[in-house]
Amino acid sequence: MSPRLVLASHNAHKLREVRQILVAAAPGIDPEDIVAAPEMGADEPVEDGATFAENALIKARALAAHTHLPAIADDSGLAVDILGGAPGIFSARWCGRHGDDRANLELLLAQLADVRAEHRAAGFVCAAALVLPDGTEVVEHGQLRGRLLTAPRGDGGFGYDPILQPEGQPAGDERSCAELSPAEKNAISHRGKAFRALTPRIVEALAGRG
Ligand code: IMP
Repeated sequence: MSPRLVLASHNAHKLREVRQILVAAAPGIDPEDIVAAPEMGADEPVEDGATFAENALIKARALAAHTHLPAIADDSGLAVDILGGAPGIFSARWCGRHGDDRANLELLLAQLADVRAEHRAAGFVCAAALVLPDGTEVVEHGQLRGRLLTAPRGDGGFGYDPILQPEGQPAGDERSCAELSPAEKNAISHRGKAFRALTPRIVEALAGRG
């Protein structure tokens, strides 16, 4: 089967997560319809936007231009209230190098060491973009609000998952995002919300291509 929708990510974890989210939101979508950028021989563009939405669009535009297929991309990160929304778009390289999840999380915990529980509000933020070969562009946002813990909890997930305790969980449920099952996290996550909001447009784009 040939790919019908391309995802601008070199991260296998993200491809799995986005496939699960989209297939659950639109049963007409087959997981095999969606392939990631490396399979299409696409390079990663420089993400020099100033917002999550700009960066998501940069990635989706480059991939749609390269593949001539509908392209989706997301850009996401952690926004800490008391830091004015940082690390924000710098979440993946907060410690000074790209992609060292543990070092990023430890630096953030050290920076917030003296911050009391009531001031530890934060949230994951995601912008999900769809760009079509005809130039149509759509962006949707999602958030997962919670509170930062003082020490990591749990082995699941990635990034800052072990230090964010999601809000709105049942009383007594103290689990971090790294302790949720993938399905539990997708149901409340910033990426789940953003991609579910984008799903009707994705379905439309796929139907248009037959
Ligand atoms: P990306 O741009 O979506 O690849 O994510 C940028 C960075 O934000 C990641 O490297 C993580 O540090 C953080 N991040 C984004 N989404 C999540 C999440 O769901 N859990 C934990 N960290 C996340």
